[in-house]
Amino acid sequence: MEANNTIFGKILRGEIPSKKIYEDTEVLAFHDIHPVADVHFLIIPKKFIPTLVDVTPEDAALLGKMLALAPVLALQQGLADGFRTSINTGRMGRQDVYHLHIHVFGNRPEGVPLSTMAGV
Ligand code: 5GP
Repeated sequence: MEANNTIFGKILRGEIPSKKIYEDTEVLAFHDIHPVADVHFLIIPKKFIPTLVDVTPEDAALLGKMLALAPVLALQQGLADGFRTSINTGRMGRQDVYHLHIHVFGNRPEGVPLSTMAGV
């Protein structure tokens, strides 16, 4: 396995701080440093998987766990009326950090719905 020199690798190793909202042995979730909505957090695997293209069949349960965590954490963060999820992949997908992550973002129920173009 190649070394994880991404910013998320540094967050996982505690080398740089993050605002964590969930952690277990396989997964970490923390607030995005540049939120695009009232609430914007990222769910990452602790296993180093650079992009969605690098996922193998053995990762299926891990990815399922990450996706199932999204609504649980979104509700805890106050997104009671819906939210958006996205996974950017590769250069054409505008992926900046090459450690797989699910974006979860949305506005609080009393706010305005995301615009159709709002994204990361
Ligand atoms: P990508 O474009 O790769 O899908 O998204 C990477 C995300 O990571 C961006 O939304 C960016 O704001 C976020 N990000 C980049 N560096 C840091 C950091 O040091 N801490 C946190 N919490 N988020 C970061």
